[in-house]
Amino acid sequence: MRGAESKTCGGRSWDITGCVLRRADHFMVREKFLEKVKAGEAGEKLSRQDICFLLTTQETQEQDILLKASDRVRQEFLGDEIHLRAVVEFSNICVQNCLYCGLRRDNRELVRYRMTLAEIVSATQEAAAMGFKTAVLQSGEDPWFTRERLSDLIREIKETTGLALTLSVGERTYQDYRDWREAGADRYLLKFETSSPLLYKYLRGGLELTHRLNALNWLKELGYEVGSGNMVGLPGQSDEDLATDIEFFRQYDYDMIGIGPFIAHPQTPLAGARNGEFEKTLRVLAITRILLRDTNLPATTALGVLQEDGRWKALSAGANVFMPDVTPITYRRHYQIYPGKAQISASEEAIANRAVSLGRRISAGSGFRSHSHKSSGPNS
Ligand code: SAH
Ligand code: SF4
Repeated sequence: MRGAESKTCGGRSWDITGCVLRRADHFMVREKFLEKVKAGEAGEKLSRQDICFLLTTQETQEQDILLKASDRVRQEFLGDEIHLRAVVEFSNICVQNCLYCGLRRDNRELVRYRMTLAEIVSATQEAAAMGFKTAVLQSGEDPWFTRERLSDLIREIKETTGLALTLSVGERTYQDYRDWREAGADRYLLKFETSSPLLYKYLRGGLELTHRLNALNWLKELGYEVGSGNMVGLPGQSDEDLATDIEFFRQYDYDMIGIGPFIAHPQTPLAGARNGEFEKTLRVLAITRILLRDTNLPATTALGVLQEDGRWKALSAGANVFMPDVTPITYRRHYQIYPGKAQISASEEAIANRAVSLGRRISAGSGFRSHSHKSSGPNS
């Protein structure tokens, strides 16, 4: 107990894992909250009820305790490195009609684009020249990119850049995933969005959650490092649903988990809906870090849209991955999954400087979670 603090202390004091907590008239940290955070940090299994309890706190003091515990777990299991992944959004054409997304098929107001194969290769080569070790190729579900075309593209990028390569192009067949893996793709990102089967079906125009989860299993079976994730604050989503999302993360033990707030897009059927809450999204992130220990958690761009410093707050609350957008600017402004996205940018230099100010550093490696992962690149 520190002297100066115990003098002002109106009531009881606790000292857990380095934080001194005071109980005075103006705030109260519940003992049960401390107990659960401490148990999670110590690696004890938390129940769904416990997860929900931590998730629903309204107290800033409690939130602070949770986020700091998450930051310590990140430090203990992953150290201070931040992994950068350069994202190339190569097509905004999509055959799906997800209610939440600005790229949905029925959005006629969006200017559509599809980068040429040569443009995509050159964007990844520029990313490699800038020092990135990973490129993420993301798009809507665009059937022009057949199995063969994407296979050739992957081969060319791997041969000419040696980058670790992540794909995020939605639900495709087992054969597609298999050939792309054989062509050299290392990772695949496919968020399940929400673990509620009913909400999922409603938001994704009748598609089934089980199909998504099957696709995630195929990807794992094929030897990809698999990323998934959710959105926080979807219309109709309850806190219990979010607790179940976190349980899914734990059960499937994904290698990367993207947790971002839902942001209402004016050109979708969800126009005017409330955005997801910033603080709650941070809590989902923090609990996920505490439970999953060493997984890769990006500081999502959507957090940066809700608050200018949002991604940096996420990096201090358990996140260890930053995903700068390197899509050529003429195309980037049309990749409007949600409003405000294209305005978010940060140069590599700015990121590195900021990282240092937080006591962190940019990783020189590819940031694979599993040391056994087989990559055809030289940086693995
Ligand atoms: N078509 C692919 C990849 C592009 S969409 C796919 O659907 O998997 C990438 C991610 O954007 C989605 O997984 C979803 O989580 C996120 N997203 C879509 N609309 C959003 C919105 N309105 N607010 C926040 N995130 C959104
Ligand atoms: Fe298409 Fe992905 Fe947007 Fe759904 S979330 S409409 S699949 S780009």
